[in-house]
Amino acid sequence: MSAWLRDVARALDERPAPFSVFFRDDDAGWANDRLFALMTVFERHDLPLDVAVIPHAIDRDTAARLARRARLAGRIGFHQHGYAHINHEPDGRPCEFGPSRSDAAQRADIARGREQLLMLFGDALGPIFTPPWNRCTRATGACLVDAGIAVLSRDATAVTLGVPGLAECPIASDWLQKRRGVPITRDEWAASFADLIARRVDPVGVMFHHAVMDHGNRETLADLLNLLRRHGRVRAMTMSEAASRSLTA
Ligand SMILES: [Zn+2]
Repeated sequence: MSAWLRDVARALDERPAPFSVFFRDDDAGWANDRLFALMTVFERHDLPLDVAVIPHAIDRDTAARLARRARLAGRIGFHQHGYAHINHEPDGRPCEFGPSRSDAAQRADIARGREQLLMLFGDALGPIFTPPWNRCTRATGACLVDAGIAVLSRDATAVTLGVPGLAECPIASDWLQKRRGVPITRDEWAASFADLIARRVDPVGVMFHHAVMDHGNRETLADLLNLLRRHGRVRAMTMSEAASRSLTA
């Protein structure tokens, strides 16, 4: 085991109960070579990966290649990541489904995005929605349910929407987290992840952005996946599995 993962391994060893984790990668449709490279890392370790796809950015050929890979690997899922990944807010934090958009505009974007992805992915598309920048409004939640989407994934710090029929599957850890605009080191990431394990957060969702992950960063991730794969206390799951746990909890 790599030395930088010592705290993570210790936190896992000390857990009285198994540790559940899922992995979400955002922005399929952009930097697709790096997306395929990230998928390879997960396939190598036989761990599940949920890929958030931008409907307006994905082309037919890439979608077909992704779906083929998923059929062969078996543990890769796809879901909707907004519509065009465009900021519509005149000021403040960027948001595609934010307060300045009418219900009708949100509903139209969600529906046409879902329709496009269903055409490209068919049954391989999960009923899950990740809003760009992990932010949306309560009105978004109702539009999602109307569109046949059952799971919303945002940041764990967001207040639960409490929309009937909509489970939430939040992300607690950002693999590429920045602090004051500077990427944290792998040691700092390991310390924060070990803290989540120790605090019994369950399941823990980890977010990636393949577009900014180079070969070295993917190899660092491979260290982590190697540990999680081999550790007897870890249960890696898909987002659908994680969401069904939150419904039954
Ligand atoms: Zn995104």
